[in-house]
Amino acid sequence: MKEEKEFQTESKQLLNLMINSIYSNKEIFLRELISNASDAIDKYRFLALKSEGKDPLKDGEIKINRNKDEKWIEISDDGIGMNKEELETNLGTIARSGSKEFLAKYKEMKDDKKVDLIGQFGVGFYSAFMVAKKVEVRTKALNGQGYLFTSDGIEKYTVEEIELPDVVSGSSVRVYLKDDTDDEKYSRFLEDYEIEDLVKKYSDYIRYPIKMEEVTKTPKKDAEGKEIEGQFDEVKEVKTLNSMIPLWKKAKKDVTDKELADFYKAKFGEYEDPLLSLYIKAEGLLSYDALVFIPSHAPYNLYAENYEKGLDLYSKGIFIKEKCKELIPDYLKFVKGLVDSDDLPLNISREMLQKAPVLSKIEANIEKKILERLAQLKKEDYEKYLTFFKIYGDHLKFGIYSTYGVKKDEIQDLLVFPSLNNEKPISLADYKAKMDPSQKFIYYASGKTLESIKLLPELEGYKAKNIDVLLLADSIDEFTLKMMHDYLKVEFKNISEEAKEELSQEEKDKLASLNATYKRVLDDLKKPLNGKVDEVAFSTKLVNSPVCISTKEGLSLNMEHVINEQQPGYKDENEKPKAVKVLEINASSPLFQAVSSLDNDEDIQKYGSLLYDEAMMLEGFEVEDKKAFVENLNELMLKAINKKEPSPLKEEGKAEKDVTAK
Ligand code: ADP
Repeated sequence: MKEEKEFQTESKQLLNLMINSIYSNKEIFLRELISNASDAIDKYRFLALKSEGKDPLKDGEIKINRNKDEKWIEISDDGIGMNKEELETNLGTIARSGSKEFLAKYKEMKDDKKVDLIGQFGVGFYSAFMVAKKVEVRTKALNGQGYLFTSDGIEKYTVEEIELPDVVSGSSVRVYLKDDTDDEKYSRFLEDYEIEDLVKKYSDYIRYPIKMEEVTKTPKKDAEGKEIEGQFDEVKEVKTLNSMIPLWKKAKKDVTDKELADFYKAKFGEYEDPLLSLYIKAEGLLSYDALVFIPSHAPYNLYAENYEKGLDLYSKGIFIKEKCKELIPDYLKFVKGLVDSDDLPLNISREMLQKAPVLSKIEANIEKKILERLAQLKKEDYEKYLTFFKIYGDHLKFGIYSTYGVKKDEIQDLLVFPSLNNEKPISLADYKAKMDPSQKFIYYASGKTLESIKLLPELEGYKAKNIDVLLLADSIDEFTLKMMHDYLKVEFKNISEEAKEELSQEEKDKLASLNATYKRVLDDLKKPLNGKVDEVAFSTKLVNSPVCISTKEGLSLNMEHVINEQQPGYKDENEKPKAVKVLEINASSPLFQAVSSLDNDEDIQKYGSLLYDEAMMLEGFEVEDKKAFVENLNELMLKAINKKEPSPLKEEGKAEKDVTAK
């Protein structure tokens, strides 16, 4: 009986995309179908091994057939096959979260970017519809019924029972090619040399033979051995098109960077070469082979909650599990690759895997190799390292932060930061090397953006003394440095933190005498800032600016901001972490000098309020009470003007009232 069904809505959308695809690289359909065939054999072999002899063990092979008259090409495997239900869920819907995300991403993308995306994802079976008018899948699971699935990829598909007497288990996917157009010659996929090329290009490493029967014509010869013109002998020959040796099983010296890059692109459906490839061969106590890649762009869903990290796991060349998360630490979740271990029992269950101690050993080993490789890159090609760091630096920082500093020693030398005195980001080692012997701390300034940090008045003193300052604009930066506490015994210090303990006795004495002299002014300045600042005090950090904000007790303004951004919605305002602020005054600034000469306490208080708002603004915050700010400003401006040129028309008192009444 033939049943007609509709594709799931999302499948229809994806199919529609494939059919109307303007993606020029249509040839990847072959790679995708071969890869499915290879996966199906992997799955079969895995189950057969676990069944301990009950199911027949097959070596596995993939066959390519084609028919030039009927214009189809067919990819067959003797893998696991599908029963009816599997056919419908696997091919009739896109259950795969990857395809769903692809669609979501695709819809929100700009047109010119869309083209790349298909190649990047490798959308599997449906990619056949880039070249197909119609697709037929014949399939049979071990000891099961045979089925024929047919679809033109538009709305519907049909499924019917068929007899496949020669098949033990497996699938074949027959692709009826579209008619040639001016832009695309679909019939090329029927040519031997084209198929051979594509298999070499995309599927050479497939571990099962990909076989194709080819017919070679040789000129017919007469009895004397002379060629007879126009007559040929046809010789049929089954050729294996791929070399089959998994890339990771080859000797290191035999593997080129290009091969690694090609492998990466084919295996992970990527369109760009990886930023970095690692070819790891571990021997000795722990024996495994691994290929690890750092993508040249962050995986599009890296920050999504359902992002799955991990390396594909093989045991003695047999596929065990995709994206095995036990093989890679969280902070390196952006890497892709595979591990083939000799030390895992073949029939290990997936549940057992999680507990296998060998996996955590391999994980630690691979982590170490990746960090070593990064260190090497940093040394040998700093520009490329900076490219890497721009994309993935946050993850390294997270590696320190999320492990409470346990990984500090391993990672700290891989960190780089922009700094005041350097055009390019520098490492902590570089910073330390350039420090003056008298300098006690590694200084940093933090804020929302590099531009806003550079405006901080408290940088003035450091600039004047030519002390370098790291500029931390990533929200995780400061938390990471706090977690690290020091770099090779040199502590980190936020320049916005109170500088008391850094001062010389002379500076301390000077501040004490200033505080005594200007007690009344300081008290007045502080009066409107009750609850906002803990203290108004003289500063040693400023050169030109009149004021800046510093904090004490460890929590900086930037950290306060980041915490509140990330955990919004504290029920009680008082529960919010609050930085303890100090309004620091530049005693030698002309503005302070002028303010301190005022007699009117109320005016000084208004200046206090304005100066605070001004300092907060430069710290990257909005003025809290904009109305009061404007009123104070207007009033003081007017006063300043009137003082210079007393207005004959207005009495002072009236002017004041006019402004505040507004
Ligand atoms: P993916 O292979 O990435 O999961 P596809 O769209 O290519 O996505 O295939 C969907 C599913 O269909 C596969 O996961 C697999 O279960 C099944 N499938 C596809 N091709 C075959 C095949 N040749 N043999 C058995 N199952 C297959």
